[in-house]
Amino acid sequence: MTRQREVILQAAFGSNEHFTAEELWEKARKLDRRTSRATVYRTLTLLREGGLLREIDLGRDQKVFDPNFMDHPHHNHLVCIDCGEVIEFEDSHMRVLEECITRRLGFRSTKSSLRIEACCDRLRKDGVCPNLLRKRLGACVPGAETRSLGVPVAP
Ligand SMILES: [Zn+2]
Ligand SMILES: [Zn+2]
Repeated sequence: MTRQREVILQAAFGSNEHFTAEELWEKARKLDRRTSRATVYRTLTLLREGGLLREIDLGRDQKVFDPNFMDHPHHNHLVCIDCGEVIEFEDSHMRVLEECITRRLGFRSTKSSLRIEACCDRLRKDGVCPNLLRKRLGACVPGAETRSLGVPVAP
């Protein structure tokens, strides 16, 4: 049990990639074939309840988990509507704006997340988006196209 948990944690936090529960199970099984699906789901619930893992809304009908909120608690997501690529970004201006709005309304913000849906340059410029092609061929799975920019936060 403990060993399985370790494997699941490693699979979840080994990279900044977003993942669905099924994808996490896949990853964990690559590390240890005996990892059970039930344990993955149970551990996911615990991690989410403990605030270590956040469920994000990427506008799909699947639950996607994001392991990057511990390191970057204020990051947001841009989702390409062409190919589904997800880009993480951080911007201190948004935090200021959020503070202003929240305080003006008499609240203190505890958690927020912005999702921008956008069209990628590649498809518009080249007429072909490599990610889109891969997706059409069925090789692209939700959460697999995560790009972490780690944009520095202005002081
Ligand atoms: Zn993220
Ligand atoms: Zn795209």
